[in-house]
Amino acid sequence: MQHSFSTFIIILAAMLSGLPLSAGKPRKAEKMLSIGMTYLQDHFHLYDSLQYRIFTFAETGYNEVRSAEALCKHLEDNGFRIEKGVAGIPTAFIATFGTGRPVIGLMAEYDALKGMSQDTVPFRKPLVEGGTGHGCGHNLLGTGSVAGAVAISKWLAQGHPGTVKLFGCPAEEGGGGKAYMVREGCFDGLDAMLDWHPDTRNTVNTESGLANVQVEFTFHGIASHASGAPDKGRSALDAVEAFNFMINLMREHIPSSSRIHYVITDGGKAPNIVPDKASVLYYFRSPKRVVVEDLLNRALKAAEGAALGTGTTFEYERISGNYERLPNAALSDLVYANLQRVGGVRYDERETAFAVEMMRNSGYADTTAFALVRTVVPASEDGLSPWVSSDVGNVTWIVPTGSFRIAAFVPCSNGHSWQQTASAGSTIGTKGLLNAARVLYLTAWDLLQDPSLLEQIQKEFRERRGADFVFEPLMGDREPPFDYAR
Ligand SMILES: [Zn+2]
Repeated sequence: MQHSFSTFIIILAAMLSGLPLSAGKPRKAEKMLSIGMTYLQDHFHLYDSLQYRIFTFAETGYNEVRSAEALCKHLEDNGFRIEKGVAGIPTAFIATFGTGRPVIGLMAEYDALKGMSQDTVPFRKPLVEGGTGHGCGHNLLGTGSVAGAVAISKWLAQGHPGTVKLFGCPAEEGGGGKAYMVREGCFDGLDAMLDWHPDTRNTVNTESGLANVQVEFTFHGIASHASGAPDKGRSALDAVEAFNFMINLMREHIPSSSRIHYVITDGGKAPNIVPDKASVLYYFRSPKRVVVEDLLNRALKAAEGAALGTGTTFEYERISGNYERLPNAALSDLVYANLQRVGGVRYDERETAFAVEMMRNSGYADTTAFALVRTVVPASEDGLSPWVSSDVGNVTWIVPTGSFRIAAFVPCSNGHSWQQTASAGSTIGTKGLLNAARVLYLTAWDLLQDPSLLEQIQKEFRERRGADFVFEPLMGDREPPFDYAR
């Protein structure tokens, strides 16, 4: 009788935790998994409403005052200790729960994008014409990581040793918030870091991505009447054009895995005034940051040449810079195993109709392709593009980091599109963020339980990083670019 009652409890606990019942007797500890998993299962509406609030705030990088406040308030209500304004950034914060080692970090982002305003409908409909919106789903990213951290805290609160730290990281979209937080030592003392991003698929990140630097070049000339006294003027815009021309010639002679792109941020004020000031903003990217530095040095020579030839002078400023990711196979394998355990995202009838209509409105012939979100895709087969940069890269060189992607967008979405914004504010996004929270919870639980996993992960980290590694911020000692997204 006693035996069958215990068996019943074990089966019930396993059902609650959503874990498969193995043929053998489940470990006692596995029952404890259900605490965080049940918490997440029971709080769909809370996290749906939290993500939607951040969706409607739609605050751009370094302006995420209300978004950061909403996340901090929820963490505080759940017993986290909050440190606000870290690294001199008003919207950066660290929330801590528990004591002692191991210390597991999670990263949250919550910045929106300009021009991405969109209602949660499957057709183009800005909420505010030209307004900001969550076209990269960071409302989900922030809320999902916070949900994962709270779930872990429920387990730690049972008296288990260990600490979870949730890092509120502003301005991922071009502001490089994490680079400044790394520079100020925010991520020191962690044993492992977990990170995720909304996507159209469920998969684990194993690629290094691209290191990048953002550099603004400003040329100074002499203003004059463009028709009345052109001989008196020296055009800063001419210098920008000469500079861009040289960079475009340079493209043939750079490693093919590199990327260079630019926009003219100041091209003068009126055609009848010879511009005395003109600026161009460049991104240089490569899988290795030493190549990025080389590209920048060659660009500086081109800028010198452009200035000489046009009778102008120039200055430049590094706006931000990010390291390429340092992969960690041991941690990626663990994340992937938990991703498989959680599985994909399942749409209900209403969400299926939403997805089909959005795909139709986006010109997709095969509207059944949304079924992809139900599956988990191995990293080696998913074709996940490594051709992007993220400020997460900086963090991966400080602490072993495991990253994954969750299908929180309808699969017809391109990055930074109205389709992604629409998905991000819907229950499709909420389902995605809760799956992410489950993967974060299960992986942190493994790391907190089994010291041998962390040993293996940290050994690989030390070997890959090298013994004499020193973090050198790619943006130097400049202040965060607080105004860049206003
Ligand atoms: Zn993003």
